[in-house]
Amino acid sequence: MFTLKSEIQFDMAHYLSGYEGKCNNIHGHRYRLVVKVSSETLHEEGQLRGMVTDFSNVKAVLKEIHDLFDHKLVIEDNEEGRRVVNKLNESGKLFDIFMVPYRPTAEEMSRHIYHEIKKRGIPVTEVELYETPTNSCTYREAM
Ligand SMILES: [Zn+2]
Repeated sequence: MFTLKSEIQFDMAHYLSGYEGKCNNIHGHRYRLVVKVSSETLHEEGQLRGMVTDFSNVKAVLKEIHDLFDHKLVIEDNEEGRRVVNKLNESGKLFDIFMVPYRPTAEEMSRHIYHEIKKRGIPVTEVELYETPTNSCTYREAM
């Protein structure tokens, strides 16, 4: 089994609705995303001979993931989330908000990121998302 590993970091704000504690308030993290791409075999001919995939393909997809989340305020698309967005918009200042159909925890984000990478044709096998330097969530699916 061959496994490529590549990583990026991004800055993002969120809050956890319905959470008792300080994470109920809008706050930010510097996320670190470590992605593993695996294959039992290597390409046998052409441009990719001897490779699982080209690192530059992985990097290009990770750049798209970076741009999806970086410097955004990520809010769950529910009644409370829409109320927060309306309130922010009343200030007249436009915020770069990314509405997602889930509570933006490291667990839900790592699953979302896994599927975003997979649908771009990269044979991803594991996504590890660090919310802080010492806390992360790993998401993988059976191959
Ligand atoms: Zn947080």
